[in-house]
Amino acid sequence: MLKVYTVLCRAGAMDNYSYILQDEATGETAVVDPSEPAPIIKKLDELRLQPKYIFNTHHHFDHTDGNRKLKELYGAKVVANKNDAGRIPAFDIGVTDGETFALGHTKADIIDVSAHTLGHILWYFPDDKIVFTGDTLFNLSVGGLFEGDAAMMFEALSKIKQLPDDVLFYPGHEYTAHGLAAAQRFIGNTPEMKEYLHLAQERLQKGLPVAPLPLRLEKACNPYLQPRTLQEFKHLM
Ligand code: ZN
Ligand code: FE
Repeated sequence: MLKVYTVLCRAGAMDNYSYILQDEATGETAVVDPSEPAPIIKKLDELRLQPKYIFNTHHHFDHTDGNRKLKELYGAKVVANKNDAGRIPAFDIGVTDGETFALGHTKADIIDVSAHTLGHILWYFPDDKIVFTGDTLFNLSVGGLFEGDAAMMFEALSKIKQLPDDVLFYPGHEYTAHGLAAAQRFIGNTPEMKEYLHLAQERLQKGLPVAPLPLRLEKACNPYLQPRTLQEFKHLM
C-alpha cells in the first residue's frame, strides 16, 4: 500500500502538483513529476523521507525541473518512458507501455497515453487503485495537444475510461476552477455533477487540492470523457 502526499508547486502561476509516494511496507519513497525542487525538498524534510526514485509522466519542464536537484541530493534514480531518454533531465531507467515497475512491495503499471506529448505515460497502481495522469487528464478537462493529435488523445482517454470507477486520480495541475463552468454547461444538472461541484467547491474553499476524486465522477462529469466516437471528440478539441 502507498501513502500519497500532494505538493503544490509554481503556486499561482502554473499550479503544478508533484506527489511524494511512500510504500508503507518498506518505506521506499518516490516523487512523481518534481516540478521544482524547493517545495518538494521542504516536504521531504518535514516527512523525513529520502526518495529512491523520481517517476516522470512526460518531459515538459514543469514536470521535470526538480529531477537534477533531487538526484544530486538523494541519489534518486529518474524513471521515465525509454523513448524520452534523450529529453528527460537526468534520465536513468527506461520503462514502456505494458511494463510494471516496483516501489518496494507496490507495483505500478505503465500505460502509454501519447497525445499531450509523444511518450506521455500514466503511472497506475492497481492494488491501491490510484493513477497519476500528468497532463493527460485534469479535473473536468484534458491537456492540450502539443505533440499528438485528437485521435491519439481520444485513444489515450479511452484507456483511462477502462480503469475501474473507484480508482482515484491525481492530475499534474490544479485546473478544476477553469473547467467547472464549461462542464456544468456541457453535462447539465445531473446528480453526479452536483456531487462533483459540492466536493470541488468544498475543497477549493479550504485551499485544498480537489484531487483525488474517483474516476466514477470524472467519467460522468468531464466533457472530454463523454464522446463515444472520434468524430464527436474532434468537435471538443
Ligand atoms: Zn505538459
Ligand atoms: Fe504541465
